[in-house]
Amino acid sequence: MKPTPPDRTADRRRSSHAAFARARAVIPGGVNSPARAFGGVGGEPIFFASAQGQHLTDVDGNLYLDYIGSWGPMILGHRHPRVVAAIGKSLATGTSYGAPTEGESKLAELIIACVPSIEKVRLVSSGTEAAMSAVRLARGFTGRDVIVKFAGNYHGHVDSLLVAAGSSAATLGVPNSPGITAGTARDTVVLEYNEPEELEALFRARGGEIAAVLLEPVVGNMGLVVPSAEFLTAARDLTRRHGALLVCDEVMTGFRLALGGAQQLLGIEPDLTTLGKIVGGGLPLAAYGGRADVMDHVLPAGKVFQAGTLSGNPLAVAAGTATLEQLRDHPPYAHLERLGGRLEAGFRDAAAAAGITAWIARVGSMMTIFFQRGTSPVPVTGWRTAAASDTDRYAAFFWGMIDRGVYLPCSQYEALFISACHTEADIDRTTAAAAACLADVAKQPSTAP
Ligand SMILES: *Cc1c(COP(=O)(O)O)cnc(C)c1O
Repeated sequence: MKPTPPDRTADRRRSSHAAFARARAVIPGGVNSPARAFGGVGGEPIFFASAQGQHLTDVDGNLYLDYIGSWGPMILGHRHPRVVAAIGKSLATGTSYGAPTEGESKLAELIIACVPSIEKVRLVSSGTEAAMSAVRLARGFTGRDVIVKFAGNYHGHVDSLLVAAGSSAATLGVPNSPGITAGTARDTVVLEYNEPEELEALFRARGGEIAAVLLEPVVGNMGLVVPSAEFLTAARDLTRRHGALLVCDEVMTGFRLALGGAQQLLGIEPDLTTLGKIVGGGLPLAAYGGRADVMDHVLPAGKVFQAGTLSGNPLAVAAGTATLEQLRDHPPYAHLERLGGRLEAGFRDAAAAAGITAWIARVGSMMTIFFQRGTSPVPVTGWRTAAASDTDRYAAFFWGMIDRGVYLPCSQYEALFISACHTEADIDRTTAAAAACLADVAKQPSTAP
């Protein structure tokens, strides 16, 4: 059971409470995407009115330091001048033509220049669409049916991939949602992340049936989980040896962990890559790309169907292009690594001082503090270890930080993001808040699993 959050509707969040009541009457659950509903921490979502740089302002006028950045896209912070100017310029010329524009080629060239393994790329409108299209292409290219994914990895709400996805229970081949047929789920095999032996055994048994192995090269969607080199090497070698494709889902990690994404940072070469979030600069745009000989199977170059009325939308292309150009011209990655390290150390010290057991995982500007029940931290390497987290303790931490003006992920199973706008002073204010908050949290009993 979730701890009952303190009464936060009375004064400070009165307008959010009213906004949520209004939304619930007309929108299922009051939100247009479930992660926003605070289901993982209990209580009601906060409604926002505006954002600037690393800050959010809610409808009651409360100011928060933002560690979500729209779940990843806002690596430059909110309303970056270069992005705002590009959107304005594009707006003045028209918002959609349903016909090709030169801006789409410019963004494609930029993506290809940044991401080492991409030779050709298609623009779509969401990460879900990118993943769905990559799966169809992998099946069309190989003539095989089976897709391999890993428990706790999220690839959008594609039917065949909504099996042991994200924060839901990891069960072999069982759909996460009503509405997904057993037939659809049957062609998806779910394995534990970071277990190369499981992957090897599967390829030994069914290698000739596998179209693709799909993975988050650094996982952000069960909280942050770091891959082992052996696991990534096994995924690359086995797919290559058996004629299957390796698809890296870099919707979250692309342009975040390095300009060339996790694949550049970790030195892996996938056949296909999905991109989203940052590539659209805060507007709805995503992409999938990779080997030219595979991408040339997409219609009208090839026969694998994929289309979109708003694909390559000029406004989204302008925002994405400006974002990638800014990241290329002024790479924030050293700054983000420095701030990430400082925040990690601060959280570690705060947990130790409070006597709270936590596993802290971080790569660059992505991080998760996993609350645990034992006396010493256990490495989180996959869904089995992530699922053992003390989510009630996370909920208490989340609300304590909200009360201190810090907006963290509203679930144990989501990573936090630092933006290029964050400063050392922001990080120090956050770790001071965490120290005070965890001292409070430690006074509440840790709950049984
Ligand atoms: C967010 C995310 C998606 C889904 O993208 P949407 O734009 O929300 O459809 C897919 N894969 C990963 C790794 C993601 O983080």
